[in-house]
Order: sequence, then structure tokens, then C-alpha cells
Amino acid sequence: MGEDVQIQTERNVLIQICRLMYSKGFLTAADGNLSLKFEDGSFLVTPSGRNKGLIQPQDLIHMGPEGEILGGLGKPSSEFAMHRVFYEEQREARAVIHCHALFSTVFACMEDGLDDCLMTESVMVLGSVPKAALAIPSTPALAEGLREFARGSQAVLLANHGLVCSGRSLEDAFNRIETVEHFARISYLVKMSENGSAIPSETAQRLEALRSQYGLQGPFTNCRSEDPREKQKDSDLESLKSEITETVFRLMR
Ligand code: 13P
Ligand code: ZN
Repeated sequence: MGEDVQIQTERNVLIQICRLMYSKGFLTAADGNLSLKFEDGSFLVTPSGRNKGLIQPQDLIHMGPEGEILGGLGKPSSEFAMHRVFYEEQREARAVIHCHALFSTVFACMEDGLDDCLMTESVMVLGSVPKAALAIPSTPALAEGLREFARGSQAVLLANHGLVCSGRSLEDAFNRIETVEHFARISYLVKMSENGSAIPSETAQRLEALRSQYGLQGPFTNCRSEDPREKQKDSDLESLKSEITETVFRLMR
């Protein structure tokens, strides 16, 4: 018997999003993976090691709740265990997307977090984007390291690796990926300007209170209202302190 019409439709939507992500430079070569969860507990998952800008609807793997292959070609994503963590921890999650988008990955490779209350939109939609500790891709350590963050956020940076977002649909997860990447780009430029100004915590709280009005649901962690210029001063002070300490030790030798 042929495949369900709903599965066929979702195959096409998922491929459309892969191509959109590839054209926006969010996916390079064999990077990234996407998955979708159906009502019956089965999943549609991108194949491992393939260029997601080039795959076809029939390349997507249809997997049963226990991981059994129901349809599609090739091997499912090596990061599917990481996707599962989001489905397990977030009741409303229906889609998960992982990619190495440029500015998000820059933040994944930096000491600084992506958590300042900088833009009205990011305060409301994203809050703070936490960062899971460095772990080897495709290992259980990477998936398990994410669990505590998946309980508090729909967008998580993977240290020195990339970004992963969940959503109530593929479109919702893709929107979150785009929002994080846009926020990371702006945050990076603001950091470079050394002249950024944060939204005060009182205003940030008023913005967060609007989340339900905009239909924004799911786990959320507030952004940090510290002024980036103060943070810059703190880090300048810290490097000055360590420079002085090093010089003193050198002179004492
Ligand atoms: P897969 O091709 O196995 O999904 O892996 C891509 C990736 O981004 C690994 O972190
Ligand atoms: Zn990756």
C-alpha cells in the first residue's frame, strides 16, 4: 500500500525548508539535520552525511517510535538522539532543526553568551539562548548534555558546534533558527561597536509579558539586562588584572 498523504505532504514541506536553509547559508555541505514528529509517534528524519540542499523527498527516512525504519533511503541522521531529547522534554515539540548557521556558530565558539536583552523582538521571542557544553557530535554525551537546556529553552547553542531549535511545527522551528541567527548577527555587530545599550530589566519584563498575546508558548529563559558596555568594562578590567599579575610574577622571578 502507498504512503499516507500526510507523510508525503510533510516530506515536501521538510525538503522545501532544507532548500530554504541551504540557500540562506544556514546549511553547508553535509551539515545539519531536520526532523518532524507525527501524531502516531513516528518521525520523518533527514538522512545522515548527505548535502541537505540536494536531497529529495524520497531520501527522508520515516522512522517508527522505537527507531525502526518504515520508509526512505539511507541512514537516519547521526544526531537523531539529540532531536529525541527535545521531543521527550517538550510536550509541544513537533519539529527539531540543527544547523551550523554562521553567526550562531560564532557565538557557539565564543566565551560570550547569546543572552543580552538587546532587541525588543529577541527579548520576547527568544529570551536567553543557553549554551550546552562541548561534546563530540553524534555521541550520547551530546544528546544528554542538552537535556537540562531543552527543559528551559526552545533554542540551544552547542559549544564549538552550532545551534539546535525546536518548534510546534517545521515552520515554527525554522522561524526560531532564523530569529536566533538574526539576533546573533546583530549581537555580534553590537559587540564589535563596543557601544551597545541593553533594554532595562523593567522594560524587558513588560515585553516578556506579551508572549502569550503573540501566541508564544513553550519553555523560555529570560534574557540578561546587564548593559553590554558594563560587561565590556568588566572584561577589560579582568584582562588588565591578569596582565598586571603576570608582569609582577615575571619581575619577581
Ligand atoms: P548528520 O548528517 O548525520 O545529520 O550530521 C550532520 C551534523 O550536523 C552533525 O553534527
Ligand atoms: Zn552539527
